[in-house]
This record gives sequence, C-alpha cells and structure tokens, in this order.
Amino acid sequence: MSTTPVLRLGNAELRRVEEMRLPSQLAHVTQDLEFIEANRSWLSPGYINDANGWDIVFQSWILNHEGRTVVIDPCTGNNRPHCQPWFDNLDLPYIERFSATGYRPEDVDFVFCTHMHHDHCGWNTQLRGGKWLPTFPNARYLFARREFERWDSLTPGFRNVDYNEGVYERSVLPVMQAGLADLIGDSHKVLDGLTILAAPGHTLGHAMAHLQSGETQAYFSGDVFHHPLQLVRPEIQFGDCDDVDAATATRRRLVELGADSQAWIIPAHLPTPHYVKVRRDGVGFAFSAA
Ligand SMILES: [Zn+2]
Repeated sequence: MSTTPVLRLGNAELRRVEEMRLPSQLAHVTQDLEFIEANRSWLSPGYINDANGWDIVFQSWILNHEGRTVVIDPCTGNNRPHCQPWFDNLDLPYIERFSATGYRPEDVDFVFCTHMHHDHCGWNTQLRGGKWLPTFPNARYLFARREFERWDSLTPGFRNVDYNEGVYERSVLPVMQAGLADLIGDSHKVLDGLTILAAPGHTLGHAMAHLQSGETQAYFSGDVFHHPLQLVRPEIQFGDCDDVDAATATRRRLVELGADSQAWIIPAHLPTPHYVKVRRDGVGFAFSAA
C-alpha cells in the first residue's frame, strides 16, 4: 500500500523522500535586506525564518504517472567520501524512507537525474560487496547526453569540481555498464504527458521534467534555482555554476513558462511547502509558496 501523496497533479501522484537538510542563511542568496523584506510575506514561514535563514532540503520526488513510477533526483547516497564534512560518508536510512512510501526500489520504471552533481544522482547506485550496483534494478535511467559528456574526463575542456570528485565513477558509469542508462537529447518524451527538457546553466547539461496530467502542469526544475528569491531576480546566483548567463536565462524562461501554464514549480531543495507558483502581474510577476 502506498502512502497518501504529498501532492496530486491531475491524475498523477507525488511522494517525497528526504535524505537530509542543512540550515542556511539568505545572506548566501542576497545581501539586499530591502529586497528580502519586500518578499517576506510570501516566503514566510517555509522559505524564510525570523533570523533570515532557511533549510536546504535534500530530497527525491517519486512521481506516479500513467501507471509508471519515476524517481527524480536520487540525492547523495551512503558510503561516499566528500570534501564537505556534512556530505562525507553518509549513513542515512534513505532506502528505508523510500520504501515507507509504499514503493520499493524494484518498482521504479524511470530514474531522472536533473544533473550529475553528487546530491542528484548518488542513490543511482549502492555499495554492495565492494561494488557500486544500481539501486533501481528494473528502471531505465534517463541521463541528458550533454550532462553525461560534461562529466566525462575524456571530453575536451573537462573541468572537475572538488565537491563532485568520483561521482561520475560511482553513480553514473556503473549504471551505464549495467546497461540501464539511456542518453537523451534536449527534448525527450518519457511518457504521454511527461517530457524532459534542456535547462542548462547550473551545469552544462542540466535538464528539467515537464508534466501535464489533465489540466494540471508541473515543472520539476532541479537546481534551476535553489531559493525562490532567484525567481524574483533571475540574475542572483547561488553557489557554484557552470555557466552564469545560461543559468540566468533558464531561470527567466522557467518563470515565464510557469506563469503562462499556471504550473507547479517543483525544485530539488525547498523545504515545506516545497513548491512555488507564479502568475503575471502587470509587467512583472507575482509569486506564491504553493
Ligand atoms: Zn542540488
């Protein structure tokens, strides 16, 4: 028996698996206190607290659509060395929490990693008997070809980053070697009503998923933005990024798409209520924590 969905999107059902959370400060997003105050009413209490902080949540989405089960962004994973101590050698009951939703890893039909940073593809694999083996043995893993090539050290101009050391080898290649990966282009239909679209910038091959079920639409936007203030001012960067201009342009496009389709915008890292909605308001946009 599966648990009650956290959200119904038309006929589709959404469930959530949390791996961990880290307290953060909005000062890492913007130092503009006037700007923060102007947005406090819709950000509070989920996306801003009284001390101008918020929790970055590391979570996966389990989407049930058209009778198929899709996992989006399988977090960091256990047993992996990491340069940042809060991610180093995690030993967290992610699989137990996953199974508590009523879905077992064997039930998953598709795994979609919006990109190949450690916190979006870790549980692609698990360490078993000294080997990295696919966690979702019956799934097709959907990897954007551009992203796959971005992390291949043989690609000309390859640039690694310290926080992603070894991720490609532990969480991506073993899936390829098991024959479970499909390298997909800039627009890929997964199922009727579910399409993966290029959303580059945060990483060169970053992608997002668009869902349409009945009248309801949603964008699973990964790390197109981290904090919703970046939707209000798309030029705000958060953390490291492959291509700042492309990331800004992609955020702008997401805001327009979200406004024009009344879509739920469902990113990777937001705490409760987890989602944002946007509508056109005169020449600008108005946002709400959905
Ligand atoms: Zn992330």
